[in-house]
Amino acid sequence: MRGMTVQTIAPTHTPGQLSAARIAAFAGHYAEHCLIEVVAETGSTNADLLARAVMAPGRGGLQAPTLLAAETQTAGRGRAGRVWLTAPSAALTFSLAWPFAAPLHALVGLPLAVGVTIAETLADFGVDVQLKWPNDVLQSGRKLAGILIETATAADRQVWAVIGIGINLSVPEELQQQIGQRAASLPTAAAQDRNLLLASLLGALAQNMRQFESQGLPVFVERWNRLHAFAGQQVSILDQGKVLYEGRALGIDQIGRLMLQADGDANPIAIMAGDISLRVKEG
Ligand code: ATP
Repeated sequence: MRGMTVQTIAPTHTPGQLSAARIAAFAGHYAEHCLIEVVAETGSTNADLLARAVMAPGRGGLQAPTLLAAETQTAGRGRAGRVWLTAPSAALTFSLAWPFAAPLHALVGLPLAVGVTIAETLADFGVDVQLKWPNDVLQSGRKLAGILIETATAADRQVWAVIGIGINLSVPEELQQQIGQRAASLPTAAAQDRNLLLASLLGALAQNMRQFESQGLPVFVERWNRLHAFAGQQVSILDQGKVLYEGRALGIDQIGRLMLQADGDANPIAIMAGDISLRVKEG
């Protein structure tokens, strides 16, 4: 594809394996100018790209939007030092490093825009998912995919967002037990060609990151609210396990705060993400 740079770090390609060339061939024009890399194994694709975001260009530093996908990720990360677990070859794990011409604070709503992007792409593959504020993709109430966005500012002051995504392709019983039976996995048909799925996600991410950069979160708000897993439901908002608020989840506002009609309050309150977690109230 014109303008696209492809780099396969995995030495050989066998059918079914991730391949940078195949991802590039499927990705379409939105992903032009993206560098695509595939590795057999790494600790964390987010950690790798974050490290490169602050390196000098001549020493392996990033110079263009870069997708790094790993067949196996051994030290996946969640928010606030939590872990993202995957059994070998049972997940699609990748990160996209994207240079933003915007100050860091403009990126606050980015996880919500990325959630919308994943959900809309999976819908094209016949998979219905819902979004849990602030950063999870659910299927029937269980986590199908996680999003972790980390940022770095390079010496030349370029702001990079590293968008890490893990999608479960299967969840072995052992893993299910480790995470408390809260994981879902993608139907086999949707994951039949992982290169096609990853290319579709890359194309949609590239398109939406440009839209986010020029128009901000507002263009994603209605789309997010349509996908909201707990719209109108009673939820608890937790800070490090302690309940901060309880009430009815309404949806997100224009800057990505969760609007909650707290029990006993006349007006909804707006909750900022930070390290806040949401749990749906049973019963
Ligand atoms: P919370 O679930 O409290 O809202 P979070 O969604 O922000 O937190 P993350 O930091 O995004 O959590 O993801 C890490 C959490 O996801 C882990 O603490 C674990 O409970 C769960 N988890 C880890 N690996 C997987 C997986 N492969 N599939 C589903 N859930 C997972």
